[in-house]
Amino acid sequence: MKLKKILVLFSLAVIATLSSFIEVKDVPKPQETLRTIIVDAGHGLPDPGAKGKYSHESAVALAVALKLGKQLEENLPGCKILYTRTDENLPNGLTNKNEANRWRAKFSNDNRGDLFIAIHCNSTRANYHREKIGTRKETYYKGKGKKRKKYTRRVPIYRSWTTPSEVQGTETYIWAVNKNDQKKEYVGSMAEDTEGMSEEDSLAIANFFDSPEAKILASLRTKKYFDKSKMLAELVEDEFVKGGRSSRGAKQRNEEGILVLAATAMPSVLVEIGFISNPEEEDYINSDKGQNEIVYAIMRAVLRYKENLGGGAAATTASQP
Ligand SMILES: [Zn+2]
Repeated sequence: MKLKKILVLFSLAVIATLSSFIEVKDVPKPQETLRTIIVDAGHGLPDPGAKGKYSHESAVALAVALKLGKQLEENLPGCKILYTRTDENLPNGLTNKNEANRWRAKFSNDNRGDLFIAIHCNSTRANYHREKIGTRKETYYKGKGKKRKKYTRRVPIYRSWTTPSEVQGTETYIWAVNKNDQKKEYVGSMAEDTEGMSEEDSLAIANFFDSPEAKILASLRTKKYFDKSKMLAELVEDEFVKGGRSSRGAKQRNEEGILVLAATAMPSVLVEIGFISNPEEEDYINSDKGQNEIVYAIMRAVLRYKENLGGGAAATTASQP
């Protein structure tokens, strides 16, 4: 009899699970299309970002973001391109960079972005060198009271200097999969926004998002966002390689600073277009030629991403850098 009881309980559990999936299916699926792309120039004064010899990240990111937006507008007619900022300052008149990052995510979510592309420049420390160039005499004392005596010793003299780091190349970051739970929360709260709907619809949706099914849906969506973000990141790096850049790959980032990737309820990537700390790359990312090549690579990647959307298997066929 005990076995029978277990079987009954098991069947009930299966029915409950299945019915929750059926309800999930009734909710309109997110459309497999690109209607709105958010282009995010990283940083903004008073936060200049990383500094090179003569330029700073904030200005380079803005120039590239504006060019990218223009290219996307031309190549994806019918797709709305929104910018988080179009001048040198942090977005929305903000002066605190964390507040600005939260605003970036909210702006993207409120506008129902289908894709979020952040533009940043990379930086590493300069190489530090030290060389002994001689010695000098140093006086010191030992002992206390009457026993106190003066001594001398020779100590080395060093010359130190730095040379710019030679680290170079592109990197595209996505939100780390192990942080998906955190992202799910944002995805859930974003979906509660029901502005412009009938009262009945919005009530139904509000009830839905309080339900356990909503959590399943949020989880499915987040997994989908991860796969799509990864696909785009790999396409971006692939296009950089095709354009002759050296790629450091598509990577997962889980540091605190990447709030924009965590809090955007859509596939999102952060493109590090080159190292501003490397003098050659600083010249490249500041030049028209360099910026146009960078923009072309990202634009090509977005077009390939769009082609792959809805293809299902396409996500796995995206070439690896
Ligand atoms: Zn940055």
